[in-house]
Amino acid sequence: MPKIITLQLSPKQAADEKFYLARAAERMGIRQSDIALARVVKRSIDARQRMAKVNLSLEIYVDQEPQPAPLHFDYPSVENGTEVIVVGSGPAGLFTSLRLIELGFKPILLERGKSVLSRKYDIAQINRGGEINPDSNYAFGEGGAGTFSDGKLFTRSKKRGDYNKALQTLVWHGANPEILYEAHPHIGTDKLPRIISNICRTITESGGKVLFENKVSGFVLKNGRITGVRVGGNVIEGAAVVLATGHSARDIYEMLYESGIAIEAKPFAMGVRIEHPQRLIDSIQYHRAERGEWLPAASYSLVSQEAGRGVYSFCMCPGGFIVPAMTDNSQSVVNGMSPSGRNSAFANSGLVTEVRLEDFAHLREQWGELAGLRYQQMFEELARQHSGERQVAPAQRVSDFVAGRASRSLPRTSYIPGLTASRLDQWMPEVIGARLRSGIATFGKKMKGFVSDEAIVVGVESRTSTPVRIPRDPETLMHTQVAGLFPAGEGAGYAGGIVSAALDGERVADAVARFCKAHNF
Ligand SMILES: Cc1cc2nc3c(=O)[nH]c(=O)nc-3n(C[C@H](O)[C@H](O)[C@H](O)COP(=O)(O)OP(=O)(O)OC[C@H]3O[C@@H](n4cnc5c(N)ncnc54)[C@H](O)[C@@H]3O)c2cc1C
Repeated sequence: MPKIITLQLSPKQAADEKFYLARAAERMGIRQSDIALARVVKRSIDARQRMAKVNLSLEIYVDQEPQPAPLHFDYPSVENGTEVIVVGSGPAGLFTSLRLIELGFKPILLERGKSVLSRKYDIAQINRGGEINPDSNYAFGEGGAGTFSDGKLFTRSKKRGDYNKALQTLVWHGANPEILYEAHPHIGTDKLPRIISNICRTITESGGKVLFENKVSGFVLKNGRITGVRVGGNVIEGAAVVLATGHSARDIYEMLYESGIAIEAKPFAMGVRIEHPQRLIDSIQYHRAERGEWLPAASYSLVSQEAGRGVYSFCMCPGGFIVPAMTDNSQSVVNGMSPSGRNSAFANSGLVTEVRLEDFAHLREQWGELAGLRYQQMFEELARQHSGERQVAPAQRVSDFVAGRASRSLPRTSYIPGLTASRLDQWMPEVIGARLRSGIATFGKKMKGFVSDEAIVVGVESRTSTPVRIPRDPETLMHTQVAGLFPAGEGAGYAGGIVSAALDGERVADAVARFCKAHNF
């Protein structure tokens, strides 16, 4: 049996394998040369004290002990398997497809956007202030919103599926094995595109299909069952249809609603992106002027209740960049990401507050279940009206936002298209703006220096979650009205983030297999 040894080390000692192996051997009362294999199984930073510590857990195998088998995934050929349509190649669609392959089914993965390589070009154009291609941007294309995301893999929904398997699948497709033991695993936007392409290659090499620039524009229904989808003038048929189109595919929600297929308005969250100099966050979190050579860029996670509603930080990106995440030219939407080295001079996070059904009740009569979506759209368009040319985003110094005064100038930013000074405190709906202002003031008491002249809020962070749910039966995971239709992932309202979307995709694949077997497809 391997032995687990947990050491508390300085950041420098934790980076020195020779040092910590000697410590582990000493602790076990053996010679270091008796260690046949040492695997890090957990690493976390404890920065509560003046001097930050690293907690490192090692799994130690001594001489003749049987060692764990290397990570391996075997995907069978599904060339002749039953065809299942998967719409959307985000984490939910990709993991649905991989699981379908494991179960012997042939996924036909339809994606409105382009392959990673072509998509990179469109994203570079957006950052240069070019037009937004509505089918190829930060949300749409190979790998969905996950490809040029930050790649944080932490999730609160570990119980909803095999979290470790999801991480191992990413490692098998090229992610750094460190994600298997880091307390807050992170891939980085520079590494994700290759991993996503490798997953798509697994799907095609196993006999599945991945079809880019294939936008689903309609559903084919017969006697209450979905039998296929429309792409341009063609119909593509399948035994079942998995709808994993993400929360930015507004046309899909509209299509469902217009076809009389049930969708439900749901609460969601909106706000701003907040950005500080990274050295400021480091100095607050590590209690010293410089973080030094051995500590990673510091992060934070903040939450408070303001006037009866939650205000919280979300998707914190240390050493990261704010990016333009809109899907058409009428919106101003921002998000955040960081490269694997987390080495930019800035720290950003989404800072959002709950939006409840009552906030958009006035839109119900006209828009029915699409009311929340329209409210979200109006917020993004409002931000656009206060933006500069192209993707230049509206921003305000945090101290000015909290105090309710104009910013005469703005500090440096990571946001490449640029910023224009704007009174976010004035033009945001009161229900959002007032709570954010008092929430930020509360966070300033928890983290001294958080409310700073050097920090900015940027408009707007509106796509942290979906304003619509596509209802499904909790047992069969099938749409409550349409047999054979399986809503999946974030856009369907059952996930929020890369890993939870991936886990939901796996569960849905299992449900599809049960459905197909029950109907002899
Ligand atoms: C900049 C950025 C940073 C992020 N950072 C993180 C992070 O660090 N950690 C984290 O957990 N999450 C992060 N997220 C969120 C994460 O990316 C999403 O939660 C996740 O991608 C949702 O997965 P999904 O498969 O449900 O949907 P999506 O990833 O949105 O995928 C949906 C796919 O469906 C396609 N599609 C839509 N309509 C159609 C149609 N009609 N026909 C065919 N295809 C269609 C889209 O093109 C898209 O590829 C980030 C997002 C962004 C934008």
